[in-house]
Parts: sequence; C-alpha cells; structure tokens
Amino acid sequence: AVHAVEDQHRVAVAEGAATVDADALRLHAELPAAVQEGQLRVHYQRLVAAGTGRTLGLEALVRWQHPTRGLLGPCAFVPLAERSHAIVGLTHWVLRTAAAQCAAWRAAGHEVSVAVNVSPVVLGDPSLVNAVRRAITTNGLAPGVLTLEVTESALLLDPEGAATVLAALREAGARVSIDDFGTGYTSLTMLRQLAVDELKIDRSFVVAAPQAPADAAIVRALVDLAHRLSMHVVAEGVEDARTADLVRDLGADVLQGYHFARPVPAEEVFAPADVPARPVPAAVPTAVPTA
Ligand code: C2E
Ligand code: MG
Ligand code: MG
Ligand code: MG
Repeated sequence: AVHAVEDQHRVAVAEGAATVDADALRLHAELPAAVQEGQLRVHYQRLVAAGTGRTLGLEALVRWQHPTRGLLGPCAFVPLAERSHAIVGLTHWVLRTAAAQCAAWRAAGHEVSVAVNVSPVVLGDPSLVNAVRRAITTNGLAPGVLTLEVTESALLLDPEGAATVLAALREAGARVSIDDFGTGYTSLTMLRQLAVDELKIDRSFVVAAPQAPADAAIVRALVDLAHRLSMHVVAEGVEDARTADLVRDLGADVLQGYHFARPVPAEEVFAPADVPARPVPAAVPTAVPTA
C-alpha cells in the first residue's frame, strides 16, 4: 500500500513535469547559496535499542529553511541536488554538522552515535573518504560512532568502486549501513562481498508486518540473513507499539519510527531532565574565614 501511494506520487510529479521543472530549476539554482548562507538545518531522529529502549543513536535528516517557501523536507530538494555537484557540498555540510553535534552530546554525557545519509553520487565522489576522516578526527569521535547510510542503488551503480569506498570508510572509523533494504536489487553475493555493518529494513515491510504474514516472514528472513553475516538490523518506520513488539520479536536489534520519536532539532532531542547524572563538582573553596 505504501508503495502504491509513492508510485502515484511519482506519476503525478512526472505528469506535472513541465510546471514542476521551472520551479525545481529555481530551487536548484538557490541551493549552493542556501548551504553557504546557513539555510540548511539538520533534524535528528532517535534510534533505540529493541531490548531496552535506550537511545543508541540519532539519524541526521536534512531540511531547508527556505526564506520564502518555509521549512522544506529532503524530498523537495535532495533529488534536485543529486542532479549536480550540489549534493556533495550539502552532504559534507550535514556530515560536519552531525559529527560536531554528536561530539557535543557525548561531551554532555549522552553515549550516542550519529548516522548520515549518503547519496549514490556522493559515494562515488573521490572527496568523501577524506571528508569522513576529517569529520571523525576534528571531533575526536571514537571508531564506530559515525555511521554512513547508503542505499542499495549506490552499490549497484558501480559494485567494485562501492566495495573499495566502503572499505576505505570503515578504515577511517565509520560504520556502514544499507538504508531502505529490501526495496532495491542487491544480490546476496554482493552483500557477502561488501564491508557492511548494518541493514535497515525498509519501512514498507515494517509497516505491513502486523497485518501481512508475508511481510513478517520477509522481516524475519532479512534479520536471520543479516545476523548470519554478522550485521545489525534496524527496523525503520515503526509507528505503533504493536509493530514495535512484533519486529522486536522477529529479531530486529534497533528500532526507529514515529512511535519512539519524530525527527526534531538538536536542542529538542534530549529534554533537560534527560541529562545523565554527573558528579557534582566540589564547591570551590572560598577564602578560609580567619577567626
Ligand atoms: P531515510 O534515510 O530512509 O530516512 C527516514 C525517513 O523516514 C525520514 O524522512 C523520516 O522522517 C521518516 N520516518 C521516520 N520514522 C517514520 C515513521 O514511523 N513513519 C513514517 N511514515 N516515516 C518515518 P525524511 O526526513 O523526510 O527523509 C526522507 C529521505 O531523504 C531519507 O530517507 C533520505 O533518503 C533522504 N535524506 C534525508 N536527509 C538527507 C541527507 O542529509 N542527505 C541525503 N543524501 N539524503 C537525505
Ligand atoms: Mg537513512
Ligand atoms: Mg531509511
Ligand atoms: Mg526510507
């Protein structure tokens, strides 16, 4: 059902292509300035441990605070940015921002990781590995704290090139996750050959699992496959308690979705009461009163 809706949307966009294009062209032209002028924002969505509900990490999701159009979601401009080099600058900005934010959270006592989405074009760009290495070292992030989410299509575009890049990214201290898994066409052989730490099972399977035994079976099979290949499994798009219980029972390690939290600005991720107890610094001794 989810796919049907998305396909309809795609058709509608294609049919309105003539009008959409002039508009899209304008947005596309405004993008580089938007990055430079600080109009981009990153919202963060929690990833929670299936067993304990503890927040393990945050996924960085870009938004554009457009001066006249308001807050735009990534669907409105990421595909446009992907048509040119603009996506590289955008991704590097998100990477720097999310890595710095993660370091700030960790310094405040939140032991969290952060995940950044990387488009196929960006995965193929020679500057990515250095940008990732810099984000990790500049912010003093421990190995495995930064995760890069890539889609199956990125791996298909150039499997050998992708394998080399993924290995270099892990060498630099990043984890690699395959996003929206199950919607693309990754061959099982490719999965075996790639250096991948995590599979994120696409929302369409997760949403359907409580009603459709076939979808629940797919989730279980993907979990088993991933675990046998020593990968972690994230279930994305968990919208209610029933789905959370089911995918947890099916073996997912990490859950993400509106049931737990929506993407929000960094300052709204942790409520002030959330700050873990830290030792209260000893009172600074004042001058000893002389009697
Ligand atoms: P994604 O990486 O698969 O991210 C998950 C998307 O699903 C997010 O949408 C999130 O808000 C949404 N979501 C999370 N939980 C639920 C739920 O329970 N139900 C439903 N219906 N949706 C849920 P968002 O933020 O609109 O991002 C859409 C896509 O845009 C992302 O999909 C990702 O592919 C892309 N994107 C976002 N930020 C970036 C970025 O910085 N760089 C690149 N290259 N792509 C990005
Ligand atoms: Mg993602
Ligand atoms: Mg995803
Ligand atoms: Mg998705």
